[in-house]
Amino acid sequence: MSSSSTFQRTSFVRRALLSMLGLLALTVLVMTALVIRHDHPLDIPSDQSRWDALALPDAQPPAGLSFTTFLTAQSAGAPEGLIVAGGSWFTPRRPVQFAVLIRHPKGNLLFDTGLGLRHAEHFAENTWWHQQLFAYTMYTPVKTQLTQQGMADLPLRWIVPSHMHWDHIGGLQDFPATPVWTPLRERQTAAQGRPPAFLATQFQGVQHWLNLEFTHPPVLGFDQSHDVYGDGSVTLLPLPGHTAGQVGMLLTLPSGQRYLFTADTTWTLEGIQRPADRSWLLRQVLRLDHSEPQNQQAIVHLHQIARRFPALKVVPAHDERVYETLPRFPQFAD
Ligand SMILES: [Zn+2]
Repeated sequence: MSSSSTFQRTSFVRRALLSMLGLLALTVLVMTALVIRHDHPLDIPSDQSRWDALALPDAQPPAGLSFTTFLTAQSAGAPEGLIVAGGSWFTPRRPVQFAVLIRHPKGNLLFDTGLGLRHAEHFAENTWWHQQLFAYTMYTPVKTQLTQQGMADLPLRWIVPSHMHWDHIGGLQDFPATPVWTPLRERQTAAQGRPPAFLATQFQGVQHWLNLEFTHPPVLGFDQSHDVYGDGSVTLLPLPGHTAGQVGMLLTLPSGQRYLFTADTTWTLEGIQRPADRSWLLRQVLRLDHSEPQNQQAIVHLHQIARRFPALKVVPAHDERVYETLPRFPQFAD
């Protein structure tokens, strides 16, 4: 081989490499421009009078009411910029999957279950690609944690899933005797849904469904509500958008502390504070919401509530930082 043909080949390889690098840089530049263009905060109405007039509802939480949470799993992680529009692309976040147990003299309620005993079987419904995308670290299912503390027989009156996505209802089968209480619409859309959002193996065998209907007066700007115990301590709220029948929950403890569980309207508190949706980039790759405009309306609504009531503790379903501030089983807060 002559030295001139070696030179030509080297120069060709170099040019090809430079072109690829140039193309990559251009792609990064275009994507960055698109992300900056789209990942802006959501509009807040300039007229705040409706929100300024809002009052927290009355509640008489009884003695004996307390709550705790169970960390069942945690996502492998993603840059914050993907999880919430306007978040840092250099800050890793690790969304959590947890359940909330409310002990009440009139019957105990589990809000979400996180992942359950049969998580591996459920997750196998996903394609290989989705299994990589939604990879998680498994901790301990609610059922096992209760058993470990000698509370396997704790009576559970209801399970209320915030919605029926896989990371919220993995433990339904671990409590086969407990009625599952959801809006009918949520159940119907889940039955027609597909992986990775809905995994039929998680809910096909549920024996007792109850229809959740919002027949009680407006609360916190929501047109309807459902006061679970009739004392205002636990109020379920319609939060459709992320799914067709997503449910939020306002909890008032005997101490007076209030919590608003906002499900997957946003994955982090920053989403409600900013207010901002999940990143535009992620929303191009995955269809995350039943109705994106309706979910964005819900984000702005929650933003207004959080702004109006700074002492109210707002708890998105996956924010690992907020989760650190909650009581963790076997500790209860009352
Ligand atoms: Zn979720």
